[in-house]
Amino acid sequence: MRLALLPGGSVYLDKGRVVTPGVDVGVRVHVPVWSALIESDDGRRIIFDTGMHPDHIVHPDATYEGTKSAGLMPAVMTYNDLLPNRLQQMGVATNSIDTVILSHLHWDHCGQTHLFPQATVYVRQDCLDTWSREVNPRVGKRDFFAADTYQFLPDAETAEIAPGVIVVHTPGHAVGHVSLIVTLPETGAVLLPVDALPMRECMDGTSHGAGPDQAAWKASRAHLLRLAGEHDATFFLSHDPNQWPRLRRAPHWYT
Ligand SMILES: [Zn+2]
Repeated sequence: MRLALLPGGSVYLDKGRVVTPGVDVGVRVHVPVWSALIESDDGRRIIFDTGMHPDHIVHPDATYEGTKSAGLMPAVMTYNDLLPNRLQQMGVATNSIDTVILSHLHWDHCGQTHLFPQATVYVRQDCLDTWSREVNPRVGKRDFFAADTYQFLPDAETAEIAPGVIVVHTPGHAVGHVSLIVTLPETGAVLLPVDALPMRECMDGTSHGAGPDQAAWKASRAHLLRLAGEHDATFFLSHDPNQWPRLRRAPHWYT
């Protein structure tokens, strides 16, 4: 089993308003967006999250233009950041990806799902149901209704989706949000908490996470910290501009 982190561009945003409520409100930061590629021991190739829609390459505000959030989160994205190009740099054919798992259905996590028509796409049913009702219609039509069918992840606290690949239910930031634990032979366990713990300040508790359900978020944070202890896991944070430059990125692998 091995895992690679695929850079998917970046976003400018107000740190304290979007990612770390209560800390650094009004501070503009430049945060990474990325996906993970996992080759499991049973021969599957899994993409965890599909990043931002290709429209952002030519139109940084492609998601929020015309909404009340217009101009607040401009994206920076190049052709290199498209998942098929990242995969090609790894020597991996896009049509060899058989599984896509979506942590949740926000615009920076599901935007290239349509580029994997051959893959089985997994999401939690409560996530899809909620976003079918509440989502920015542009994101819904453009991003996640682009997949023909979804397979629903098990409605459980944890579920082993492939040998050594565990999906963890971590609601709070969004209904039906999931994180991932991957146990690698040399690196050991790595925990991808996605937007349950997007930055260091959310992990260490100086900020509560951004999201509508604070009680659920606190329970998810506690659950992740407990699991990380049990698995002796290293966190790879989804939008942390300080950790990201220190992580190993594609075309290199964590083994
Ligand atoms: Zn995000």
